[in-house]
Amino acid sequence: MWASTSLLLIELSRNWLLKNKKILLIDQELKNKNDKTFCFWSFKDDPISKHLQDLISTSWDTIELANSQYLSLSPLWYNHIHSINLYKQAQTLIKKYNCDTITMSISSIYEDTLWAYIMLHNTKIRAHIIFDSRSPEYEKSKNWESHIYQSFVGWMIETENTVINPSAFRFMDFDIPQLWYTQFVYVLPFSDSRALVEVTRFGSEAIDTSQAEEILETYIQKSYGNFKKIEVEIWCIPMSHRKIKIEQIWGVIHLGARNYNIKASTGYAFKNMYSQAYAITQSLKNNEDIQSYNTNHSVLLKSRFAFYDALLLDILENKPHYWKAIFTKFLQEIDIQKTLKFLDEKTNLKEEISIFIKLPWKPFLGALFKKITRTWWFLPLMLTLLTLLFIFLGKYTSVQSEVGFILFAVGMLTIGIPHGAVDHLLETGLWNRRKAPMFIISYILLSGIIGILWFLLPQVALIVFVVYSMWHFGQADGKKWNFSAITSFAWWVSVLVYILGTHFDETNIILNSLGSSQLPFSIPILGLFSWIILAFYKKSFSFSFTLIWLTLSSQIPLLFAFGLYFIGQHSFTAWTHIKWHLKISNSHIWLHSLPFHAGAWMILLIFYFFWPIESTVSPYWKWGIFFIFIACISFPHVITMDLLYRRKKTTIE
Ligand SMILES: Cc1cc2nc3c(=O)[nH]c(=O)nc-3n(C[C@H](O)[C@H](O)[C@H](O)COP(=O)(O)OP(=O)(O)OC[C@H]3O[C@@H](n4cnc5c(N)ncnc54)[C@H](O)[C@@H]3O)c2cc1C
Repeated sequence: MWASTSLLLIELSRNWLLKNKKILLIDQELKNKNDKTFCFWSFKDDPISKHLQDLISTSWDTIELANSQYLSLSPLWYNHIHSINLYKQAQTLIKKYNCDTITMSISSIYEDTLWAYIMLHNTKIRAHIIFDSRSPEYEKSKNWESHIYQSFVGWMIETENTVINPSAFRFMDFDIPQLWYTQFVYVLPFSDSRALVEVTRFGSEAIDTSQAEEILETYIQKSYGNFKKIEVEIWCIPMSHRKIKIEQIWGVIHLGARNYNIKASTGYAFKNMYSQAYAITQSLKNNEDIQSYNTNHSVLLKSRFAFYDALLLDILENKPHYWKAIFTKFLQEIDIQKTLKFLDEKTNLKEEISIFIKLPWKPFLGALFKKITRTWWFLPLMLTLLTLLFIFLGKYTSVQSEVGFILFAVGMLTIGIPHGAVDHLLETGLWNRRKAPMFIISYILLSGIIGILWFLLPQVALIVFVVYSMWHFGQADGKKWNFSAITSFAWWVSVLVYILGTHFDETNIILNSLGSSQLPFSIPILGLFSWIILAFYKKSFSFSFTLIWLTLSSQIPLLFAFGLYFIGQHSFTAWTHIKWHLKISNSHIWLHSLPFHAGAWMILLIFYFFWPIESTVSPYWKWGIFFIFIACISFPHVITMDLLYRRKKTTIE
């Protein structure tokens, strides 16, 4: 139990549903302390206000802003409940209805064909209905769902003088050091000399207690003068869009934080928990099924409010300095009733648009762009559009060549070469000066071995290059689509054979310039058919979409078809894996890659001027050199990425 279960007990009792029931309450700890502060806004005639009236200790209808300005909430009220009063009411009901209680940790909850069971060490307890409100455990982020913390340190204080205005509370006072997070203070006054003052941080790391205490001390002294500390509240709430590790078991209903009742962008949960308790009770009264009150994570994430929350969470996580400006706009330019209705997820689209146009656009557009680029359809859609553009420009026309070469150059400079130029960071996440010389020497040595192989035995070098490229490309795609190692390799053998085989003549000219033997056969346009069947069978939209543009790419010149795969598919995918691992921004990755990236281009120039090749062999000899250069610099990169993928088997997805 506690908060959510206490609310359920109160609702069930109010509706006479606890009578003649056999009830057991289990918790790993006794709740006999005032450990939390529950606040929520509501109208006086809302069920929550009416039914929890006895528990509400204080209500305010005014917010105190900076510079002694006030903002009326009326007819809304901001209500406060001491958690101990909620727990005491639950205890009273437990006694009244002779409920059994056990103070012990639950090991697991499971089901057989007939019943749901609770395991307490070696004891198995059977129940008709289990309400499970154990604290949630979150899964690892799979689709870049944000996961940050609302951490706070609060002091209940008694001031020396009667300096507090008890009729208004301070909601989010940002007039404290931000320290690269979103940090604010809120003050809940209970009399003219008593208040709860809490410093709160929204961020990827919880606030350090001593840092928070320093901020509190300064803030309270500045606002109210001398004071005495009476109680301390230190907590941390997840603000998350990640999936909670739960099994859906018939007869087990999840409550509270475990049922996604904490609103991801605000940390408020109390009203949601009450609404769930209210709805469950109404359904039980009407003998209706209550299993549907278990929130489904993927359904939850499809709602437009989850989408807004995702943008807000992204800003809080990555651009926390914007939050103050956003919140100030909310307070100054948007009707507070509308803001709170929006946070309650009760606004309509028209009202939401009227809110968004008043907020600073830049951080939202940034978060939106990021969200779009992370959707499964973004990359294949862009690549399909680019392939169609090349087809539209006409095969081998000058305009196709110009557009193609410009895009190829931009792609290679922005992501193609840079994605392989941060290998020096992959092991430790930092540039390690002591390891650097060895790293550079081994990198040059490995590249050099491949260069010598090309020089002495080009046929062997080509085979070696093709094998490790296929391994590497297949590995990145395989991670993305959850392929086994063998399927990944088979996939990339098919892709390479397809790209080369559908460009039979061009491939043979390049092979010729590399001094290698010719491709023995061409591949038909539907050469990837079996993979298309697999994509449909696996219902993987991203994979299906990729196959569509790959098939179309047989109709554009070889270099552009290969470039689209290498830059658009492979480098982009590997870049996201690297970003995931290093946890730094795109611009930081690019800047970190710069020295090695620039070095790679210098090596290309050396290859261009000094590689001993007959320039009269064919007009494609430069591309031959380019491929040898790519083969050399990619070999150590393939090894480094392989080590990363093996190390991070479970976290890169
Ligand atoms: C300090 C604080 C202040 C908050 N203030 C507000 C607020 O003002 N407004 C608002 O809307 N929301 C607020 N929240 C958010 C939310 O309302 C609370 O987190 C609320 O307590 C969640 O209720 P719950 O029932 O899910 O979890 P809890 O009340 O935390 O109860 C979970 C219980 O499960 C028990 N448990 C866990 N694992 C096991 C196990 N294996 N076996 C047995 N028992 C187990 C724990 O001991 C605990 O008692 C606040 C949260 C915190 C932490």
